Amino acid sequence: HLQLNDIDLAFGDHLVVRQLSLQLDRGRIGCLLGPSGCGKTTVLRCIAGFERLRAGEISLDGSIVSSVAYTQPPERRRIGMVFQDYALFPHLSVAENIAFGLRGESAAARRTRVDELLGLVGLGGQGGKYPHEMSGGQQQRVALARALAPRPSLLLLDEPFSNLDVELRERLSYEVRDIIKATRTTAILVTHDQHEAFAVADEIGIMHEGRIQQWDTPYNLYHRPANRFVADFIGQGS
Ligand code: ATP
Repeated sequence: HLQLNDIDLAFGDHLVVRQLSLQLDRGRIGCLLGPSGCGKTTVLRCIAGFERLRAGEISLDGSIVSSVAYTQPPERRRIGMVFQDYALFPHLSVAENIAFGLRGESAAARRTRVDELLGLVGLGGQGGKYPHEMSGGQQQRVALARALAPRPSLLLLDEPFSNLDVELRERLSYEVRDIIKATRTTAILVTHDQHEAFAVADEIGIMHEGRIQQWDTPYNLYHRPANRFVADFIGQGS
């Protein structure tokens, strides 16, 4: 369970995130959707623990992980991340990449988990390959497997498909949704692409200038936009 309560974040005098609140129940996939520069990535960085809040609180599974006074470091948050530029390690095989987050476990447990994840992302038997031998879409599936390997309580995805061509992006969006749902992981996706958001998310927050204008189901955003900005934004993308 993820909860953001009235968070503000500023870079110097520039308030980039303003009184932002959201709640996401366990196993749900949320999405922050909005134009470039509206603050989506910054919100993810706050959730991951890379930024110090100016106001408000973030809690994860009932404990406060960020407040004005305290920022729990990212490595202690049990968060998995798939970022557009969060590349695989080129010198490690696919299996070694996936096993990277499993360092505390025995070799046998790591092997079992890696095989399980390779199967889950549709790359069974391909653990011996190196990233440069795989397509962009396959590499992003490996990145997803790597992020899911330690069983994170929250998965963060920042524009994970934006380097891929349009057709692949759409297919992979649906696949990624199925993979995340199969693991029952709570996830937040950040994107400026409405099709991607509608394909992946259970709930979407439309962002504009650091605020969430409406947090709702795809159906309600489409049929019951809360204001002009949401109506125009959704209208443009359809
Ligand atoms: P994009 O899709 O283009 O990445 P975004 O919605 O994710 O956009 P952010 O990257 O969160 O937006 O940026 C929000 C605002 O914060 C922008 O005006 C950006 O210039 C500013 N910003 C982001 N990071 C920093 C930083 N480290 N220092 C100063 N300003 C920053």
